Amino acid sequence: MSSSSAQVIDIVAWFVYLFSAVLFVAGLHFMNSPKTARKGNQISACGMIIAVVMAVVVLFSKGFASLTSLIVLAAGIVIGAVAGVISAKRVKMTDMPQLVSIFNTVGGGAAALVALNDILTSHTAPGLVVLITAGLGILIGSVTFSGSLIAAGKLQGFAFLKTLRLPAKAVWNVVFVVLVLASFVMLCVRPDQRLLWSILTTVFALCYGLVFVIPIGGADMPVVISVLNACTGTAVAMSGLAIDNVALIVAGALVGSAGSTLSVLMARAMNRPLMSVLAGGFGSDVSSAGADQGVEGTMKETTADDVAVQLVYADKVIFVPGFGLAQAQAQRELADLGELLKGHGVQVSYAIHPVAGRMPGHMNVLLAEANVPYEELVDLDDINPQFPTANVALVVGANDVTNPAARRAGTAISGMPILDVDKAQHVVVMKRGRGKGYAGIENELYYTDNTQMLFGDAKASLQAVIASVKELIS
Ligand code: NDP
Repeated sequence: MSSSSAQVIDIVAWFVYLFSAVLFVAGLHFMNSPKTARKGNQISACGMIIAVVMAVVVLFSKGFASLTSLIVLAAGIVIGAVAGVISAKRVKMTDMPQLVSIFNTVGGGAAALVALNDILTSHTAPGLVVLITAGLGILIGSVTFSGSLIAAGKLQGFAFLKTLRLPAKAVWNVVFVVLVLASFVMLCVRPDQRLLWSILTTVFALCYGLVFVIPIGGADMPVVISVLNACTGTAVAMSGLAIDNVALIVAGALVGSAGSTLSVLMARAMNRPLMSVLAGGFGSDVSSAGADQGVEGTMKETTADDVAVQLVYADKVIFVPGFGLAQAQAQRELADLGELLKGHGVQVSYAIHPVAGRMPGHMNVLLAEANVPYEELVDLDDINPQFPTANVALVVGANDVTNPAARRAGTAISGMPILDVDKAQHVVVMKRGRGKGYAGIENELYYTDNTQMLFGDAKASLQAVIASVKELIS
């Protein structure tokens, strides 16, 4: 190909990548609201398809494509597309956070491989800018790869990860931070030894990802997942800078900045300084004895008929949804109960804790799916002063976010702001049995005088309560 046609291809590619980037930004904008999020996803996916097709065109037009690379490319696209479609269609909504973590793993790993390839396949020593950007792509991508893999396992609830402890975690953290930074600096100053230093940077960064995430549990997990998400974006942007691909730079920068903003907001909502979360493992050092200190007395069981009477004769009811609502897929039943009670003159609102469920905004998405009006969803700061005036707080599959143990030191959720459910006049908790929440500690709310337990799957319990309410008000 002549140099002028190559230049034309470069210019066309630049504009096409820029157009893809515009689609990513527009897609992100539509994701601002659950109503338009689906459209946002489709627009961003179009941007990604256009960028991938353009990358293939560039590859072929510049004569880089051999038969082997063609087979590898086709296999990569087919395997990736099939795996993506199957996992997106099959995954349950409650398993979505694990899937996102797996995608972070793959994204971070891919960014690291792109950067490694860029450094290792250049015949001449790369310039300092390429070494720094590609080096950061390797470093951040590798940390994200191993860290997200552990996070996905923890979210999946693998028992061995829950019990895995890292003695002297602070020492390991410091050791690997020093080793990673030292090998990264050596990569930049000794490009002639780039094979050695890029491999060492990769290995040390992978180890750091492990020692960073293994000790983290309890209330810090949502923040860490969000940080890893931001890291994926940053690694992709760095690799994009290294190989001079504007679509990768913009897509990575968008994910990186959105993830960083979310991390700061989550850390604030969880009452955790971001740096202390990153330093590691707040939730893992606490003893279960300390955690279960406030648990005294017995749980009092109730029936669906009794709960219906309490709800129908109440003036004000607050619903408190949690992970169990998502697990039971009972959002429509909860919304139906809300409509029934409102029709009967009861004031109904939904208390939304920022980390209820397993991903940021989980309860908002779930309740939007059931068409619960947005104005009835009330944030933690606004709903907490309302609990003392609520006749009934109906907790549906929420546990950690209602646990008064958070107000004491020495538990896995200490310091996390909670919904002040225990201050309501009557509390009804719907859950299947005596299972603990994500943080693995007992909930002393269940043992207080004003709390009654309605055991069973949330969907079945809500259906039974709805039937009784209908009978009472007809
Ligand atoms: P929890 O995970 O603390 O508790 C959920 C409760 O739901 C369990 O105690 C379980 O009890 C009950 N449950 C499960 N299935 C059903 C069902 N089918 N019907 C009725 N009840 C059911 O949830 P919360 O929402 O209160 O708290 C979220 C936790 O997850 C926090 O610790 C948070 O830090 C963590 N987390 C949040 C993330 C986020 O971004 N939102 C990300 C990662 C972690 P039983 O088994 O007895 O039924």
